[in-house]
Amino acid sequence: MKVNNAEIVISAVSQKQYPNDRLPEIALAGRSNVGKSSFINRLIHRKNLARTSSKPGKTQTLNFYKINEFFYFVDVPGYGYAKVSKAERAKWGVMMEEYFETRDTLKAVILITDVRHKPTGDDSNMYQFLKHFDLPVIVIATKLDKITKGKRASYLKRTRDTLDMVIEDPVIPFSSETGEGKDEAWSTIRKYL
Ligand code: GDP
Repeated sequence: MKVNNAEIVISAVSQKQYPNDRLPEIALAGRSNVGKSSFINRLIHRKNLARTSSKPGKTQTLNFYKINEFFYFVDVPGYGYAKVSKAERAKWGVMMEEYFETRDTLKAVILITDVRHKPTGDDSNMYQFLKHFDLPVIVIATKLDKITKGKRASYLKRTRDTLDMVIEDPVIPFSSETGEGKDEAWSTIRKYL
């Protein structure tokens, strides 16, 4: 997809702030520091649209990016950051449940993992949490440039097995550094819009 226009519309902390123009949405989730902002920026050709708002310690918000007046990317605050307080964690849970449970314009969720590492318990919990709401999940295994070609197949299989993924959900190998996987990511996203 050629992105001509991408703008942040709102950083929402609660449901009443979500946009109400009924455009379809694709949410993006992942552990803090996994490479989520780099993924978005690579997809939409921006250097720094998705910035520091997802960084640990910052206010946790759902960031709605309107793409080509056609759909939204909804950036979900990163999880799995050890230093987050119990209260913050609970707040995150409430916000996520409110969004994933009720948002009928949400078409699919992109879950970003680091292809180099076995998905963590937090990653598995997130995947299963999304499946609990019957959401299609597209797993993006990023930082592909950091492993050798010979390891790709087995690392991708490890990702799928560890998350215990359903057969319909794809794992797409990706690199924000080289742009590899970008076309496949877009064509998969399109299917859900
Ligand atoms: P976020 O916290 O999930 O939004 O993570 P960022 O997008 O800020 O990325 C965290 C770090 O990983 C940064 O230093 C990025 O440059 C680096 N990074 C992200 N994606 C890739 C990738 O595909 N390849 C490589 N080599 N580094 C990456």
